[in-house]
Amino acid sequence: MSILRIAVPTPLARTFDYLPTDNLDIASVQAGMRVEVPFQRRILIGVVLEIVEQSDVPKNKLRKISRILDDAPLLSLSLLSLAKWASEYYHHPIGEVIATMLPTLLRKGSAAQPQLTTFYRLTGKGATLDLQNLSRAPKQQECITMLQQAQQGLEKHQFLQVNISPSVLRTLLEKGLIESYQAPAPQQASDANITPGVKLNEEQQIAVTTIKQNLREYQTFLLEGVTGSGKTEVYLQLIAHILKQGRQALVLIPEIGLTPQTVARFQRRFNLPIALFHSRLNERERLEAWLQAKNGGARIIIGTRSAVFMPLQAPGIIIIDEEHDLSFKQQEGFRYSARDLALVRAQHDNIPVVLGSATPSLESLCNVQRGRFRSLTLSQRAGQALQPEYRIIDVRGQRLEEGVSTKLLHLIKKHLHDGNQVLLFLNRRGYAPVLICHSCGWVAECWHCDARMTLHQQPQRLHCHHCGATRPRDVQCPACKGRQLLPLGLGTERLETAIQRHFSLYPVYRIDSDTTRRKGAMQGFVERIHDGKACILLGTQMLAKGHHFPKVTLVAILDVDGSLYSADFRAAERLAQLFIQVAGRSGRADLQGEVAIQTHHPRHPLLHTLIYDGYHEYALQALEERKQIGLPPYGYMALLRARARQRDNAFAFLHDVKYLVEKIANQQAQALGPIPAVMERRAGYFRAQLLIQSQRRSSLHRVLNALTLEISELKSASRVKWSLDVDPLDMY
Ligand code: ADP
Ligand code: ZN
Ligand code: ZN
Repeated sequence: MSILRIAVPTPLARTFDYLPTDNLDIASVQAGMRVEVPFQRRILIGVVLEIVEQSDVPKNKLRKISRILDDAPLLSLSLLSLAKWASEYYHHPIGEVIATMLPTLLRKGSAAQPQLTTFYRLTGKGATLDLQNLSRAPKQQECITMLQQAQQGLEKHQFLQVNISPSVLRTLLEKGLIESYQAPAPQQASDANITPGVKLNEEQQIAVTTIKQNLREYQTFLLEGVTGSGKTEVYLQLIAHILKQGRQALVLIPEIGLTPQTVARFQRRFNLPIALFHSRLNERERLEAWLQAKNGGARIIIGTRSAVFMPLQAPGIIIIDEEHDLSFKQQEGFRYSARDLALVRAQHDNIPVVLGSATPSLESLCNVQRGRFRSLTLSQRAGQALQPEYRIIDVRGQRLEEGVSTKLLHLIKKHLHDGNQVLLFLNRRGYAPVLICHSCGWVAECWHCDARMTLHQQPQRLHCHHCGATRPRDVQCPACKGRQLLPLGLGTERLETAIQRHFSLYPVYRIDSDTTRRKGAMQGFVERIHDGKACILLGTQMLAKGHHFPKVTLVAILDVDGSLYSADFRAAERLAQLFIQVAGRSGRADLQGEVAIQTHHPRHPLLHTLIYDGYHEYALQALEERKQIGLPPYGYMALLRARARQRDNAFAFLHDVKYLVEKIANQQAQALGPIPAVMERRAGYFRAQLLIQSQRRSSLHRVLNALTLEISELKSASRVKWSLDVDPLDMY
């Protein structure tokens, strides 16, 4: 008796057994195919994980599947085992993990077929036609001539290009001289299309040679190279080798870094099909990219976090650029780390992984120390570019005009006068983070969160950056009816106004998520900046990453002070990374760059270490500190979050869980808390959390395994929504 073990997309953390339909040839069923199954009172689409002979459920209780949707597996055995691993490691239901791996259209049951295109070709009658017969219809004649040279047929747009209108095609169809048929769009694939790269410098050459020796086995390389040191060039030359072997390259980049620039650079180098996979694609585009990766049509796949699950016909290498970036960790639902999963995947597929960054995560540096990753370093900027010079501007007691000191204004002026570009970094969008009543001190707060509303001017509204709520700006104080409401603090919109006033002769480009929401908006900015004319760019961390702006010679960081003192033990690491990344935008070409930092704490040790000793030295110190107190990566953590409409319910549940942990853990793991979340009320819910930690990864997971089985039995669990975050990055 054959039984299908199926992953069904439900929050239940288990698989489900079904019987085949009566007329089904079980030999034609394989793991990785989709099936429709009756589930409770619905029909759901699941994926076959295994075909087994035995079930724990008695045979007369097993239901039959409704039908099979695919005639070949959608997910390879390698991806299925990745799903299984991820489900166990992140304690997330296998059905939901598998669903995450599939594009929405496949989850909804669409055929796993590329979209078909209409082609036109000659009929037998058309092929033997004497062209003289069409001498009075030159367009028809031209069309037939074109088709005589195209055995596979041509698409409509190819005719339009030479001014043959659809009506000509219609006439020829009616005459029976041509016919139309449907087929997948052709790939212009060819392997002779690789433009040679530049001559590598010595360090780049060592990196490429070392990795090339390991192309057929699993090994993770940490490529640590200062910004502009030529990491991307190393990726490109490695990919060229992989392509020559007939294999595919998967390149993961941060959410925010999916700049047209990166893609254009790959396209210039490799004139062959590249599939892009990111959140701005529509459902159909996502499916097309997925299928191209799966059937091998696409040789290079560039995508954000979820692309780690892309099916590959011939996996060759996985590259993760800016590996320290937080966007590789999914922060809701199935909370996976794409970087960590990439390593597991590469082990299954026996291929190398390259993690690149100017500011590697402490986790990765620790893995180098433990001998798990191999370290490769690019210490010099490639080509002619020099390292920027740092300048700390002590703003204590100084006059600040909308957050900008007089010294900085002078500096900006000098760089603009020299015909260069200036980048101002302020990690806060909107006009002002606070709207306050001058008479009574009332502050505009979000109605759903413990948070202040940010004032935006274009258009004028209050926004909550935590839950997305917006409302009109108050004209009158709701507390005292006073009419003097003052915007307090500095956001990018306000900085823009101030800077425009000061430097009216120069264009000012504000780049943040408000100004780049429109498709193509970022591209527009990039083009104008690449004109090379003197201008001022200002914006949030969107500007910090990945861009290459050769004419920027001054980078100014306006407000670091807020981040120098934070409760989160990772805050310093984040600040250090952001700082170095922003600074790295300066002087990327042959112009000497300068980095100015405004601060009230000119002697802060973090700033000093970063400026005088560099990121790597900072990271080694930080690792040592974490080791002393057993924090990650030297300790292992999971965060249990709970939210409820009533505060007490969240706490009662977490206290119950804490008791369970203590019972199960037997001293090998500890539960700390529960404590309220830093923003206790958000989007109308009260939120609290319990931290579970252990000195050993295996102990932590043993506890979590037992715990997740017992949690759902808790009475208090029914009154909350809870989630488990393994290796949490955002803890507060
Ligand atoms: P990263 O990815 O580390 O920021 P890139 O690969 O983008 O660095 O290189 C920065 C700049 O230096 C690019 O314009 C690139 O074309 C150039 N470059 C890279 N390697 C070399 C090299 N070996 N010789 C000359 N120029 C190089
Ligand atoms: Zn008031
Ligand atoms: Zn809110």
